[in-house]
Amino acid sequence: MSEAERWQSVCAVEDLVEGTGVCALLGGRQIAVFLVEGQAYALDNFDPGSRANVLSRGLTGDVQNERVVASPIYKHHFALASGRCIEDPTFSVTAYSTRIFDGLVQVETPRALPRIRLVVAGNGMAGMRAVEELLKLGVADRFQITVFGAEPRGNYNRILLSPVLAGERQADDIMLHRPSWYTRRGITLHSGDPIVEIDRKRRIVRSRRGTVASYDRLLIATGSDPIVLPLPGKDLPGVVTFRDLDDVNRMLERTGGDRRAVVIGGGLLGLEAAHGLSLRGMHVTVAHLMDTLMERQLDAPAGALLKAALEKRGIEFRMRARTQQIVGHGRVMAVEFEDGASVPADLVVMAVGVRPNMDLAKRAYLACDRGILVDDTLQTYDPAIYAVGECVQHRRQTFGLVAPLWEQARICAQHIAEIGVSRFSGAINATQLKVSGIEVFSAGDFSENVKRESLVLSDKRRGVYKRIVLEGNKICGAVLYGDVREASRLRELIADQTDVAAIRDQLLFDSPAAA
Ligand SMILES: Cc1cc2nc3c(=O)[nH]c(=O)nc-3n(C[C@H](O)[C@H](O)[C@H](O)COP(=O)(O)OP(=O)(O)OC[C@H]3O[C@@H](n4cnc5c(N)ncnc54)[C@H](O)[C@@H]3O)c2cc1C
Repeated sequence: MSEAERWQSVCAVEDLVEGTGVCALLGGRQIAVFLVEGQAYALDNFDPGSRANVLSRGLTGDVQNERVVASPIYKHHFALASGRCIEDPTFSVTAYSTRIFDGLVQVETPRALPRIRLVVAGNGMAGMRAVEELLKLGVADRFQITVFGAEPRGNYNRILLSPVLAGERQADDIMLHRPSWYTRRGITLHSGDPIVEIDRKRRIVRSRRGTVASYDRLLIATGSDPIVLPLPGKDLPGVVTFRDLDDVNRMLERTGGDRRAVVIGGGLLGLEAAHGLSLRGMHVTVAHLMDTLMERQLDAPAGALLKAALEKRGIEFRMRARTQQIVGHGRVMAVEFEDGASVPADLVVMAVGVRPNMDLAKRAYLACDRGILVDDTLQTYDPAIYAVGECVQHRRQTFGLVAPLWEQARICAQHIAEIGVSRFSGAINATQLKVSGIEVFSAGDFSENVKRESLVLSDKRRGVYKRIVLEGNKICGAVLYGDVREASRLRELIADQTDVAAIRDQLLFDSPAAA
């Protein structure tokens, strides 16, 4: 590059006013240019703290003997010479070499950087949310993104599989990103082609069909696998799990007529499956191992109310029921229990929980425990590899609901984009059942111990039950049945660990906004 090409004029010296900056374009990139005591400085205009192009509007000054500009939004200070953030060492912006030549401010042309190759394993909710967050940061031009998905389609809203099963939505309505979405954004999508191998030394992945892709950053978002009980008959046609659109299609093939379904598992997914199949005209029996439905999310009184409401809709229950075997010839015909009872079945849905899908990570010798281990930036033990979603374990916690995954995706995208400052610090579990007409909510930890006390409202006639569990003046958990208008307020009070001493007597009643 010649000397003339190396330096690019961005403005005349007199265009600059001491104390603040101007914005200029350098190779399509916004930069903030300043003049302090006759010396010109140039930084990227993008402030990673406020995530806005604002630094040229900041005021210059001195902090800790360094010339700085204060961001007009969050008031972080960035050193004019180096771009480092004074308050937070994890933040920085690019600082460009400048000179004043012939009355013009000139900035050294940055060398074109090679694009960062980002490969995503898993085209599900968390992985694609992280890609969306990356695009929102306005750094797409720095990345060459390749997504591998095991499922043979674009990306869809998995939460809405229950309404699809129930006939309340069509499969087409729940698509989030169709293949054209990827094409339009220059993202290469390999659908129906899972990654089967990560070669960490050479930084390449290999797919089942033999596609090889190199990466600078790899994002693993392989979700969870449904647990299949190792029962005799588990492989019979008509025994299905409830995780993806193919499972829903398999269930729908067996609905109709006077057919019978047995759902093994009375947790959130099992009950949503039972409700959907019942709406599709099947006779449904739910077999649950415990005394209480959704026992991880509900206490016994709320579980009993839920059971009674579902019974009214025609769903039958076998509680404390341990399945012994699934019987049939060429297709499923019945489910047998340990107490000798048997229930006829044309369809059996196993909804007994999920397990983080870490096979790929384990085969690549990434550190795993119950999930792929990640730190607060969602980085695995290999600095080139990040992981988000149900496949991860963060500070001993694994995840089964999307709210914390959105937070993971947002934070992970920032770090992949190298403008990361936020840290993921875990999440409270908050659940809402999607069975129309039945309002159930639970959040946090509502188990009893000597340090805890419960505030309870029980109105059987209205079918309303509320329990709020306090430890000192803070709420640690809540269960609501029949009236969930306070759900989001309670979720916030739990998440923020707000001192509720002053509002303790109103907690069981609606706030004016909810009433
Ligand atoms: C029926 C149902 C109802 C739900 N309802 C709710 C709800 O009401 N509220 C809530 O918060 N959450 C709900 N959830 C949970 C929520 O859907 C999950 O928390 C969320 O989908 C997890 O996102 P993820 O990206 O980690 O996993 P997924 O969305 O499962 O995505 C992982 C993807 O990776 C693919 N994959 C696996 N291995 C590979 C590989 N080697 N290479 C490439 N791709 C691979 C998988 O096929 C899958 O497509 C529900 C889940 C189900 C199944």
